[in-house]
Amino acid sequence: MATAILTVDLDALSTNWRALDRASASGVQTAGVVKADAYGLGLGPVVTALATAGARRFFVAATEEGVQARAALGTGPQINILSGHMHGDTASLRDHDLTPMLNSLDQVTRHLESLPGHAFGVQLDTGMNRLGMEEQEWEAVAPFVLDAGPELLMSHLACADDPDHALNEVQLANFHAMTDGTGLPRSLAATGGILLGPKYHFDLTRPGIGLYGCKPYEGAARVVGLSLPVIQTRMVAAGEPVGYACTWTAEKPTLIATVQGGYADGILRTLSNRALLWAGEVPCPVVGRVSMDLITVDVSHLATIPDALDLLGPMQSVDQLADTAGTIGYEVLTRLAPRLNRRYLESRR
Ligand SMILES: *Cc1c(COP(=O)(O)O)cnc(C)c1O
Repeated sequence: MATAILTVDLDALSTNWRALDRASASGVQTAGVVKADAYGLGLGPVVTALATAGARRFFVAATEEGVQARAALGTGPQINILSGHMHGDTASLRDHDLTPMLNSLDQVTRHLESLPGHAFGVQLDTGMNRLGMEEQEWEAVAPFVLDAGPELLMSHLACADDPDHALNEVQLANFHAMTDGTGLPRSLAATGGILLGPKYHFDLTRPGIGLYGCKPYEGAARVVGLSLPVIQTRMVAAGEPVGYACTWTAEKPTLIATVQGGYADGILRTLSNRALLWAGEVPCPVVGRVSMDLITVDVSHLATIPDALDLLGPMQSVDQLADTAGTIGYEVLTRLAPRLNRRYLESRR
């Protein structure tokens, strides 16, 4: 079989959820953020594992994702929609018991008119300038909106992965100013905010990236592995090029392994001539361009050629690969393509 294998360790995922849950006081609820197909790892298996670990609330980006999460979770757990109540969402929100986080007066109006009595929350913008009602807008509509009974007030931090960034305290103060005295459940922290400490935790935290084993949660258990099967090897003579556009030329006789996996699998093309693949604990440099389905690797120094080389694993984390590619772990994960053969590791069931 020549499909790259993406392993997702659901035990490690659950371990990370429990550890982030313990990082806040016992009265603070810990949700799971599973937008973008659970950061590329597969929505169904991820929400099932998190629910088993104890998660009772999930956040997704759009109503369509919420419908999929509901199908996987069944009735019971709360599913919050970060993009709120958009035109065309009404029937799905109602039929699948999804809770929109309303972001504007427009959305509040749409929601209260089309689904009176249906649960909703409110997203406030405390300084990121991306999503949610701003202070003035909120002041104008708060009495009316609070009267309709939102079940959660939330906001999102722009710089929580940098504990020294001045905006963290500014957003915290703004969130207090906008929500103190409402008596409603509140949420401000994603993974980075959890690590900033208790004053950022409020009633509910919303970790995403830390569950999947990435920065800024440095103590996370490793969740993801990506193994690329070796399809063929060949000797390349000194002076011969390898791959599209001849961006690499052998300086001496070199044994090249061609592995299955390329940018169509979400392996970024910026890794061309830069990344390492691993044969166990032995690094093997990528030579030439990453193409759509294939990568070429110098394996001259290996005593035996393994069946597969690892792009992600114990020797190379998502964050290390992201650094090499010039991006962040979030992008490496969410690019992982549907055609990768996902294998879910789980010891307990
Ligand atoms: C993506 C997102 C999260 C999760 O953030 P992480 O940094 O992945 O923990 C939480 N809240 C909102 C509003 C988000 O958009």
